[in-house]
Amino acid sequence: MVNILEELKYLDNAATTRIDNRVLEVMMPYFLDLFGNASSNHKLGDLAKKAIDQSRSLISSYLGCNPKELIFTSGATESINLGIKGFLEANSLKGNHIISVRTEHKAVLNTLDYLEARGCEISYLEFDENGVVSLDNLDSTIKNNTVLIVLMLVNNETGVIQPIKKITELAHNKGVSVLTDATQAIGKIDVDFEELGVDLMCFSAHKINGPKGVGALVVKKGTEITPLFHGGGQEYGLRSGTYNTPLIVGFGEAIRLRYSDFTNYLKNVRERRDKIVEYFEHQGIGVENFKYVNKVPNIISIQLLHDEAEDFLITNSTRFVASTGSACNSNIIEVSHVIKELFNKDSQGKIVRISI
Ligand code: PLP
Repeated sequence: MVNILEELKYLDNAATTRIDNRVLEVMMPYFLDLFGNASSNHKLGDLAKKAIDQSRSLISSYLGCNPKELIFTSGATESINLGIKGFLEANSLKGNHIISVRTEHKAVLNTLDYLEARGCEISYLEFDENGVVSLDNLDSTIKNNTVLIVLMLVNNETGVIQPIKKITELAHNKGVSVLTDATQAIGKIDVDFEELGVDLMCFSAHKINGPKGVGALVVKKGTEITPLFHGGGQEYGLRSGTYNTPLIVGFGEAIRLRYSDFTNYLKNVRERRDKIVEYFEHQGIGVENFKYVNKVPNIISIQLLHDEAEDFLITNSTRFVASTGSACNSNIIEVSHVIKELFNKDSQGKIVRISI
């Protein structure tokens, strides 16, 4: 089979990444000989449980949380749903007001719409031209019935980092909890759960050369959440369902590979980013957005000077694949909500996201 990656430069890693061969290798035995159910009381079950515990310890050690705080899920979407709905249900006596921002991922926004339709109160914060929220605005938006603030650590379309630590300090001073979607931050910047101070944190394996279909929710000790699924009581009763051992093992290995060689990874990504930006700017094709703000090195937002993004990507489709600021929903291509929030009408169709 022809390896498409050898023919085409894949520059859409914020959407998903190719699994690392070394990750796949450590997963394989758990599909085959070591197929036991981690909840079974026999040797095969024990081996699966051991592998899951090892992965849990590995991930926790790199992300600064306690292994007991880490709940395995099917990915960030599930973690976000469990974190928000589960928190709200468990804390319903304290209030039902949630604060977020309109540039969050759809997994957050659609969960909030769902809750709003069921009587919750949702407020959206203002943000600057980079999408960064203002602490003053947050302060004045918190009310007596506010229970949760939901803000992503890194935006998936712009790469911009939100000041989550400061936001959390402010929120905690007012008795409000914080959930951060760290899906685009894990493996791109150092993430330390304890240091950030947040109460809930979500992420996925497939953005860092791990397998698709596995993620985690970190729940700070003492934070109450109600499960979405009821069943065998796995993950301290918070996420029932037979453990997907191979995916969990792959998740741990992906995190280990990335963070054990993080300096080299960053050096490589920064070098590639600089070359890409130089190419666009020197050739007069486009300019980099969000240049002077704290952001991850792997997501580059380019504003084309002449072409429409769709046309540009089609013209270059034999050389590389990247993404426009458009999302395909039910086969209708529309400008993404993040791009609509951050750019004026004339620019919206000219944004290309390159992610390495
Ligand atoms: N949050 C962010 C910021 C993302 O980029 C993504 C992936 O596109 C998700 C959530 C959803 O992740 P998953 O595909 O693991 O459900």
